[in-house]
Amino acid sequence: MKVLSVNAGSSSLKFQMYEMPEEKVLISGVFERIGIDAPFYTIKINGEKIRKEVELPNHKVAFEILVKELMDYKVVESLDEIKGIGHRVVQGGDYFNKTVVIDDEVIAKIDELSTLAPLHNPAAITGIKAAQAVVPNAVQTAVFDTAFHQTMDEVNYMYAVPYSWYTDYKMRRYGAHGTSHKYVALRMNEILGRMNTKLITCHIGNGGSVSAVVDGKCVNTSMGLTPNAGLIMGSRCGDIDATIIPYIMKKANLTAEEVDTALNKQSGLLGISGVSSDSRDVEDGINSGNERCLLAQKMYVRRVIDYIAKYYVEMGGADAIVFTAGVGENSKATRREIMDGLSVLGVVVDEENNNTRGEEIMVTTKESKIPCYVIPTDEEVMIARDTYAFIK
Ligand code: AMP
Repeated sequence: MKVLSVNAGSSSLKFQMYEMPEEKVLISGVFERIGIDAPFYTIKINGEKIRKEVELPNHKVAFEILVKELMDYKVVESLDEIKGIGHRVVQGGDYFNKTVVIDDEVIAKIDELSTLAPLHNPAAITGIKAAQAVVPNAVQTAVFDTAFHQTMDEVNYMYAVPYSWYTDYKMRRYGAHGTSHKYVALRMNEILGRMNTKLITCHIGNGGSVSAVVDGKCVNTSMGLTPNAGLIMGSRCGDIDATIIPYIMKKANLTAEEVDTALNKQSGLLGISGVSSDSRDVEDGINSGNERCLLAQKMYVRRVIDYIAKYYVEMGGADAIVFTAGVGENSKATRREIMDGLSVLGVVVDEENNNTRGEEIMVTTKESKIPCYVIPTDEEVMIARDTYAFIK
């Protein structure tokens, strides 16, 4: 059975088609610069990567082209073969604790939650509507990045602010990257051969979050109301003293929007290093003696260690620590520094294994009190699995 995983951004549309339940990827690709200049798309099929430049005025056109390519490449013979389409949705608030089949009410709720994810939720709706228009007979599901974190206790999701902010404005911690944390936690449990585990999952990429997962369920996570909490990220500040915001607004005469932009787009690794939000550039800077790059990296690593230590104490130990996403899968230096910082917990790095990139591997020695693993994330397959579960 053919199932499509879709991740719509404001000007992009990523897709991956699976043969289920085998989870075989048949074709994948991305449409970029939708609705802006110089649009194009790339497709990966049979080990080949094809790039085409076309007019992409909106997501519906992208979907029409996608469907035509599926037919041209004979991935499907007819549209009816596409049984399900799963859509990644960033913010499900406290409405959704699992994947749901999309109807008008679901779309209305995703829309209502756009205030919490102003860039992402409207894009998801655009993608959903485009898919519905082009493939009307497929079961369409919404897979929420926040759903995995809905098992948190209020002790962990509440903010110590006036209670009416929670009751009137739903102000609480919702988390992010839930589909990724869920995937790597599941995989880690498979490797450990049991479900009754205490895991710390570190999704560190351009955005980043750490989760505490007990028996496969999230008990705490570092992201907050929005995806700018917890860790220091590429260009996001993560946790800061809340009063910095009114203070800098007055001192530098900035508007709320300007401060928001500074904290989301000009902070993190970029803000401290002054060089880049990309950890590869920061590593290059360190190698050429740039002090601010070194400071940025130290701060970044320190924050990840802080969260691991916090969740270790909260869970009363950890059976494994997992690294995933762009930095977690690829940056041996960052992983090493984090694990070195955990030596007090008995973590011992396996130098040889840690020198690998992007593969599933244990990066600590047998003597290490907590095994640490790299597990490449796969949010797309989770979307396909959840969607398939509804159809089968
Ligand atoms: P993601 O958001 O998960 O796609 O992660 C993207 C980030 O991963 C990039 O901005 C880089 O900071 C980081 N990254 C990717 N490849 C490498 C690498 N080889 N070494 C260090 N960092 C990397």
